[in-house]
Amino acid sequence: MTDLDHTHDAAATSWVESADATDADFPIQNLPFGRFARESGQPGVGVAIGDRVLDLGRAAEAGLLDGLATRTALGAPSLNALMAHDTADRVSLRHRLFELLSAQADAATQASVTPHLVPGSDVRMLVPAQVGDYTDFYASIHHATRVGQLFRPDNPLLPNWRWIPIGYHGRASSLVPSGTPIRRPTGQLRPSADDAPPTFGRSARLDYELELGVFVAGENALGETVPLREAEERIFGVCLVNDWSARDIQGWEYQPLGPFLGKSFATSVSPWVVTREALAPFRAPAFERPDGDPQPLPYLDDVSNRVDGGVDIRLEVALHTSAMRDRGDGPEVLTRGDSLGLYWTFAQMLTHHASNGCNLRAGDLIASGTVSGPDRSESGCLLELSTGGRTPISLANGEERAFLEDGDDVVLSGRCERDGFRSIGFGACTGRVLPADPAHAPSP
Ligand code: CA
Repeated sequence: MTDLDHTHDAAATSWVESADATDADFPIQNLPFGRFARESGQPGVGVAIGDRVLDLGRAAEAGLLDGLATRTALGAPSLNALMAHDTADRVSLRHRLFELLSAQADAATQASVTPHLVPGSDVRMLVPAQVGDYTDFYASIHHATRVGQLFRPDNPLLPNWRWIPIGYHGRASSLVPSGTPIRRPTGQLRPSADDAPPTFGRSARLDYELELGVFVAGENALGETVPLREAEERIFGVCLVNDWSARDIQGWEYQPLGPFLGKSFATSVSPWVVTREALAPFRAPAFERPDGDPQPLPYLDDVSNRVDGGVDIRLEVALHTSAMRDRGDGPEVLTRGDSLGLYWTFAQMLTHHASNGCNLRAGDLIASGTVSGPDRSESGCLLELSTGGRTPISLANGEERAFLEDGDDVVLSGRCERDGFRSIGFGACTGRVLPADPAHAPSP
């Protein structure tokens, strides 16, 4: 894991005052990276501090980042170039940014940085990297068990599940930044009875999935594997992911080759990537396998991964329906959970992904799969919360949901907290459900 250093000191503050609010997601200990569209339309990369964004391309042009190996990468239109750098380069950048933004910075430094700070509310955030490949895992044992129970009550986990980090190749072209509206998909829908034909129409079982995503750093050549001891170095940082899912499309198509059109219509990502360095205080032991579960095969196991391969991120899903908005009500929290229920660590997922020689490249996105806790109330999707749609959940305003309705806003958020350290947040990952495209959506 990454060592703790002065950038993790809980007492550190910034001269950007909004960063010092107790509930700020982006205090100086966080320094997450993102990509945004400037007024000119030209994308740039930045770092979040309080409610401001420091334009790193402009800061580099002004000479504030001279001497850093990452200087050129910061002028690029996406984070891929920065993600290609190794950990030491990224740590040096973190240290420089800390120095520039620290309350200890002198007046001249503050004056030189200020012109390159823009209000976060003024910038349009983009997907952080040009994602070449997106892979989604299925790493929460609580999610896999509850979903498995819907289909195989006596045998929810298939025999391979405890041995292999199960995953599938997702679709990179339909990754969208938080805030992008999500059009309800159409598709071939599961028949209502076993002997009935399928229908084509609007999905009536649209769901969200609360997930974490890792942006890959560096690259292994095609044919090269990534030993577990090197996998942590290949993690640039973590964001929130909403893997929107159409259960009636998915349920009909998924056998025998897995998810396809029930997933590929849209996947939302939060715009700020919280770096592995920023997460250092919040590392946790890998999931402790209960008695009777197999230990991972040797290529997926080492002491370091067991000791702190996990990361403790508190997660939340909130729903803001159009009825709530019309009445001026705030969102309702559906689920609170944390990432400790992931049976596989990100390092294990990454090592397994490359175990056949598959090349993972800087800017690739690897998502965890739905993050659910042991109790049904900690479920990270409606499929679990509503027991496959059979037990709709009741909202405080009297509405019910088995699956999402048009106009629903889904808001994911995440935060790390630990005694003795400054809390850091992930910002939000939001998306509003739009009606299906009427031109292509005959009623089911
Ligand atoms: Ca998923």
